[in-house]
Amino acid sequence: KSARPRTALNECVKVIVRCRPLSDREQKEGYDEVVKVWPERGAVQVYNPKGQDKLFTYDAAYDCTADTQTIYDEMVRPLVASVLDGFNGCVFAYGQTGTGKTHTMEGTTEHEGIIPRAFRHIWAHIENSASPDVTHLVACSYVELYLEDVRDLLAKDGKKLTIRGQELNGFYIPEMTSVVCKSAAEMVRVMRAGNRNRAAGRTDMNEHSSRSHAVFLVTVETAHRATNRIRVGKLNLVDLAGSERQRKTGASADRLREAARINQALSSLGNVISALAENSPHVPYRDSKLTRILQDSLGGNSKTIMIANIGPASYNYDETITTLRYAHRAK
Ligand code: ADP
Ligand code: MG
Repeated sequence: KSARPRTALNECVKVIVRCRPLSDREQKEGYDEVVKVWPERGAVQVYNPKGQDKLFTYDAAYDCTADTQTIYDEMVRPLVASVLDGFNGCVFAYGQTGTGKTHTMEGTTEHEGIIPRAFRHIWAHIENSASPDVTHLVACSYVELYLEDVRDLLAKDGKKLTIRGQELNGFYIPEMTSVVCKSAAEMVRVMRAGNRNRAAGRTDMNEHSSRSHAVFLVTVETAHRATNRIRVGKLNLVDLAGSERQRKTGASADRLREAARINQALSSLGNVISALAENSPHVPYRDSKLTRILQDSLGGNSKTIMIANIGPASYNYDETITTLRYAHRAK
């Protein structure tokens, strides 16, 4: 693929890598770091104990010193700006459990993630463009995909949703809750309410979130009174299921089947993104529920950012290489 001229690639698809720092536990236990990031070259080098180092390049690569603010400003801000112009966009966090997907997307109060930053960006834009001629409507939906189920995280009972439509005219979810919001703070409250719903009745939320995808959808409508025109942009913010392979030993048959389905959904997403990146005439949206519900925000004039999260420690070598290959193939 490296022989392909860069100009043949679709500029609307960006694939970036983020490597988190060694955790306190990893430091205490004395693990070696096997990942070296070359931010200025968008490259990631992995020391291979058994042979030659491996080197992968992306649209951007961030080491453990990069904060989410930088990633937002350099990569995500232009995507959200185009949503405000009436286009669609998707931001995905991909990677093995524990590599920083939720840290990157949602963050914490000290380290604000991409999702609350996007909320603030949207409202800063709305406040800056306030005029008697323009009105904005911002609405949020939040769903979780777990195997074949789509659950509405903003419905009280987290009810199951049905995807309707077909590939030609588009898929849609008729009963999905949509909450109109008036500020970034209100959007954060909606997200947190959805997260509580997601965790409700779960004994191990970490384990559950490692096996399901969380899709936060923001719709921004801008109406111009003078021209009577309405622009609609959709922003999908996706914290994907963990990409780790299930070890055969000790896993039940059910667990192995579940893992196979999760990996199938992630590889189907990879196939869609790689088809888009190569401007391929056939994009296999139908192959998974995830790509069905995101179809109108993947391709066409939509922008996509895939953030591949990795950890630096030697014991994650195999998973790290798998993630880097997935991300490389996606572009
Ligand atoms: P995932 O959602 O992929 O399972 P998390 O986002 O929960 O992973 O991250 C696992 C742990 O690593 C958390 O304690 C998180 O705070 C920490 N972490 C992840 N990325 C970073 C980072 N870039 N800088 C500092 N700590 C991080
Ligand atoms: Mg997580």
